[in-house]
Amino acid sequence: MGYYPPDYNEEWLAILCPIPIRTCPKKDVITHWWHASCGGRMKIGTHMNIVCTSCNHGNLWSNWLFKCSEHDFEPVRNKVDMHNALSRAINLHYISEDKVHVIETIMRKLFNY
Ligand SMILES: [Zn+2]
Ligand SMILES: [Zn+2]
Repeated sequence: MGYYPPDYNEEWLAILCPIPIRTCPKKDVITHWWHASCGGRMKIGTHMNIVCTSCNHGNLWSNWLFKCSEHDFEPVRNKVDMHNALSRAINLHYISEDKVHVIETIMRKLFNY
């Protein structure tokens, strides 16, 4: 678990999308992701770290465990599940120019992973 202070040289996208667990009954439900340790909202950056916006602790996307009211902590098992979750976030709103390259970088890195 790393520590990513706010001025760390990485660009970020707020996470508002389903859980990246294909067996979860809420896999189509769009939600914020909350940090279990502190309750802060999560973001994902162009270095593929998922980081808490409140306590700034984070880790590579593939190292996180995910839970919801339907199940206990589970790892994200593959990049397809993560792609499914993140692609919902991308389709939610009109994407401003400053975020287009952030999204493109994250999705390209995810698929070259
Ligand atoms: Zn779930
Ligand atoms: Zn936190």
